[in-house]
Amino acid sequence: MKFSPNNPCPCGSGKKYKKCCQMYHKGKVASTPLELMKSRYSAFAVGNVEYIIKTSTFQKDKTDLEQFCKECEFLKLEILDFSNTTVTFKATIECNGADATFSEKSYFIQKDGRWLYESGEILG
Ligand SMILES: [Zn+2]
Repeated sequence: MKFSPNNPCPCGSGKKYKKCCQMYHKGKVASTPLELMKSRYSAFAVGNVEYIIKTSTFQKDKTDLEQFCKECEFLKLEILDFSNTTVTFKATIECNGADATFSEKSYFIQKDGRWLYESGEILG
């Protein structure tokens, strides 16, 4: 993991990573699905697979996630819409040099005071 804490945060907030999503990766609890979603995008970008697994309601294969993080570059996150339990976003990513940009509506649920990613619906 060679992402510097002083780099701009991958979520696009304009803040340094250490002042933004890294705080969640280090244990700060996201208070809204939007915060969680951004911190998950940043976790993909910095290759923090543990965080992605920890904030999902379902099991994901660690090796698959690591592979995905390695092959893809996370170029830009745009939030299109959000509510109390959903976030709709566009993720500009490139995997193995090819454009793999997608839009998704993500659903979140709160368990024991923590927001978790429940499911996602890929938009056309
Ligand atoms: Zn961030």
